[in-house]
Amino acid sequence: MRCFVHRDREAVGVCFYCHRAVCDKCSVYDDSKLFCQDHNIKMYSLEFTKFYVMAIDLARDAAAKGVRTQDLVAKLERDLKEVSRG
Ligand SMILES: [Zn+2]
Ligand SMILES: [Zn+2]
Repeated sequence: MRCFVHRDREAVGVCFYCHRAVCDKCSVYDDSKLFCQDHNIKMYSLEFTKFYVMAIDLARDAAAKGVRTQDLVAKLERDLKEVSRG
């Protein structure tokens, strides 16, 4: 597997965020995770948070239609607090 920037260099891993292959020159470690130069752990957390907010919205929607999702909403909101802390 080759680096997505340097086609002549062997990749050492893939970006945790975009999953592109990066060589040792292009890899950045953040919170002990590997990223390409375009991404970092903050961007990843932000994206992750967005998915949680979306999931909570969907669950609330379903609840409004009579589906029992209160437990799910409560769980997601708890998880979201965990993720967005710090
Ligand atoms: Zn990336
Ligand atoms: Zn590279």
